[in-house]
Amino acid sequence: MGRDGFQCDICGSASVTIPGRLDRDSDVTCAKCGHLLSSWDEYKRRIGSVLREATPGRRPPISDPIDW
Ligand SMILES: [Zn+2]
Repeated sequence: MGRDGFQCDICGSASVTIPGRLDRDSDVTCAKCGHLLSSWDEYKRRIGSVLREATPGRRPPISDPIDW
């Protein structure tokens, strides 16, 4: 994901666990150590801006309701 993506402060892993139920305040946690990274609302805003920069004018195949 690069330096602007999500990375765990504790173990440095870039893998995240997305909550099964996507409420604004659902927890997004590190897939490796379980550290709480952010709320789903903040996560999708941050990941959305990263993806917009990475793929300008093109919407990647993501099924989750990310804000663009
Ligand atoms: Zn971690």
